Amino acid sequence: MFAGKTTLLIARMKEASRAGTRVVACRPRADTRSQPDALTTHDGVSLPAVTVDDAGGIPGLAPGPGGLVVIDEAHFFADGLIEPVRLLLARGVSVVVGGVDTDHRGRPFPPFPWLLWEADRVVKVRGVCAECGGPSARSHRLGAGDGAIAVGGAESYRALCRACFERVMGSPALH
Ligand SMILES: [Zn+2]
Repeated sequence: MFAGKTTLLIARMKEASRAGTRVVACRPRADTRSQPDALTTHDGVSLPAVTVDDAGGIPGLAPGPGGLVVIDEAHFFADGLIEPVRLLLARGVSVVVGGVDTDHRGRPFPPFPWLLWEADRVVKVRGVCAECGGPSARSHRLGAGDGAIAVGGAESYRALCRACFERVMGSPALH
């Protein structure tokens, strides 16, 4: 978050479109922070996207073989995204997924353990630590709530580096 991942997804979509590839972008309805039918960066750049209730609906929206499906905020789909991605890859559709790989307690965030294992290419983008200005590796949730998913933008989360996260949380990130 706040690290430019959607900017990278939009750049990939534009590049594929320029090359003549059919592209469909999807985002989860559960993510209510941004406008429903677009991928939108924090600085307001956006491209059209289909809002889906459930990851199972994604293969039905996809272009044919050789096409590209871009999925943002994938952590909202959790492991429900695994089978749809498998299906797309088996059909010869390329898939680019963006999301947050680590939850607010510093633990792996589904479906990223599976996606990171399966992916041909992984790009980890980092924001800036709100405490020390170093590269961030964690999302720190401000306020109450214990579920791994809480919808929020700048008011609910801040990026922290590993050391500041562990200091603020008072314990190692993984235990
Ligand atoms: Zn820091």
